[in-house]
Amino acid sequence: MQQLLVTIDGPAGAGKSTVSRKLAQRLGYRYIDTGALYRGVALAVSHSDFDPQDDQALAQLCASLKLEFRLTENRSVLLLNGANITNEIRTPEITALSSTVSSRPVVREHLLKIQLEMGRKKAVVFEGRDMGTVVFPKADIKFFLDASLRTRASRRYDEMEDQDSPTLTEIEMNIRQRDAQDANRLTAPLKPADDAVKIDSTRMSAWEVVEFMLAQIKLKFDISKS
Ligand code: C5P
Repeated sequence: MQQLLVTIDGPAGAGKSTVSRKLAQRLGYRYIDTGALYRGVALAVSHSDFDPQDDQALAQLCASLKLEFRLTENRSVLLLNGANITNEIRTPEITALSSTVSSRPVVREHLLKIQLEMGRKKAVVFEGRDMGTVVFPKADIKFFLDASLRTRASRRYDEMEDQDSPTLTEIEMNIRQRDAQDANRLTAPLKPADDAVKIDSTRMSAWEVVEFMLAQIKLKFDISKS
């Protein structure tokens, strides 16, 4: 059976994580959430006392970080220098800072090497913003997952259980800001690869998106195991 490298890019809240995880399960592949790597760097920046615009300091910091995914009890956790940071990287502050640090070329260059190494053996679903355009331009199949701004904000809102959570309007504003920052940066901006299969999931469930992706994959490849 052919081992594929699958990429799923798209804006914040489009459902990439849920869909990528489910698709990877169906294919028996690993799933890599590359946004978590940018969030890991942002967390390290937040623990330091330098300006995230200082490229030299950023390069030094990146070189001192060991970021790795580990599978525990069927869940992928992110370790930063051995410490589990899976939950810490999901705060609104780190979310905003991750978009800022991800616009710095030194950070992207550092994480590029890590991602290329993770994809060396294929049989993997990569989720991010520039997977199909920059990191794996020769991926076997590329998807770009989008949904209306209101739908993406509502999905994020529904995931929140905390009473102090932001309102739907605040979430919508944050997502709009982050998308604009990610799409307008000079290095590896958020955009679909020319050869990506574009999916608008506004009126689709995660299950429907995964089934559609599997059908697209089966049109091109023999993946009899799934
Ligand atoms: O996907 P997630 O929302 O966790 O990503 C956090 C931030 O990391 C994004 O807003 C984006 O700025 C950055 N990112 C990126 N390239 C990727 C994945 C994430 O620039 N491949």
